[in-house]
Amino acid sequence: MRSPLLDTEGLNQCIHCGLCLEACPTYRITRLETESPRGRLHLMSAIASARIDPRESDAAVLHLDRCLACRACEAVCPSGVPYGELIEEARADIARARGTPPLGRLALWSVSRPRVLGALAALLALADRTGLRAGARRILPPRLRRLDALAPPPGRPAYQPVAVEAPRASVALLLGCVMRVSYGDVHTATARVLARLATRVVEVADQGCCGALHAHAGDNAEAVRLAKRNVAAFERSGAEAILANAAGCGAFLKSYAHLLEGDPEWAQRAAAVASRVRDINEYLAVAADGATFGELAMRVTYQDPCHLAHAQGIRAEPRALLGRVHGLELIEMADADVCCGSAGYYNLAQPDYADRLLEEKIDAILATRPDAVVTANPGCMLQLAAGLRARGKSIPVLHVVEVLERAMRSA
Ligand code: SF4
Ligand code: SF4
Repeated sequence: MRSPLLDTEGLNQCIHCGLCLEACPTYRITRLETESPRGRLHLMSAIASARIDPRESDAAVLHLDRCLACRACEAVCPSGVPYGELIEEARADIARARGTPPLGRLALWSVSRPRVLGALAALLALADRTGLRAGARRILPPRLRRLDALAPPPGRPAYQPVAVEAPRASVALLLGCVMRVSYGDVHTATARVLARLATRVVEVADQGCCGALHAHAGDNAEAVRLAKRNVAAFERSGAEAILANAAGCGAFLKSYAHLLEGDPEWAQRAAAVASRVRDINEYLAVAADGATFGELAMRVTYQDPCHLAHAQGIRAEPRALLGRVHGLELIEMADADVCCGSAGYYNLAQPDYADRLLEEKIDAILATRPDAVVTANPGCMLQLAAGLRARGKSIPVLHVVEVLERAMRSA
């Protein structure tokens, strides 16, 4: 069966130089070519040319499943291989051939339905209050125990929009799925920081999940459906910029132009919306140029989210913003831009590799003796918080905008 989806032109761009190998977290763990970007591209080529049938080769599928889609390889590739797009196309092919495992299907179904996620969060809060959660933990199967360990402590406040008198700019904010349910207070902090710059966050009622998790898992049809819904919603908002404070979602919104390029009705509309998308760090670095953010006496270390550093090339901006907080000391951890093992639902699907990466990440964090860990993506926040809890550490994990908002309160 020849692949209908894989972009052979993109695959042929690989010149097999191997410069990406040392950047790849799974290659660094195993030293196996089949767990490297170059090896995976070779497997994708074999699938594209029907030399490997994904319905029959469990080994090839496993090597591709173990890819974190972190795009560290893409960031260092001298030949411009579009690895992120290729792994999504390969996964869509594999999902068509083999179907998606039940746990993955359930996770994807839930995240695109905010009401379901909200109901699950409410149930979790109730189980926590009544002590049922602690009791249930002992009898849960291993995968669900991992999910429970990742869930944030319930009770974080929901998003509170912030009124701005005489705004000088209006922006839209992607509320997302996990972010909306687990980190509504990060959205509030974002709106407060923007309000300080006389920037209003407009309401975009019909927006939803960006579809990134679906695309990473090979569910292309659902990713396209969600993308079209967001394109229409953000078009109607009329906002000058569309901001994302979740790195993975921002990277995916920016890729809507590619996702919908073959659809005559949506291609131009998707490209126009994608061109207005900015990560919050990227936006603030320009909009707040020269401004300081008050004072916060704190020693922090910063974890680069893969989809901010590798997929969007945004590394200097969050550091520069933190540098504008008086009293804040930023200590760089080793390998700050190596994946923490979160990667969508990778930590559930590939627990061994995810644990290994998380252990190394927590070691690197603890070596900096921080008061807090700062990052800019909900998946990383959940993963790092779970890793620190597992080591018995009460070090908070904060989003960049939370740090800025706390500092601003002192100004
Ligand atoms: S760096 Fe780029 S061209 Fe070189 S092996 Fe890796 S993917 Fe291929
Ligand atoms: S996306 Fe990340 S894990 Fe996958 S091959 Fe590239 S560097 Fe390795």
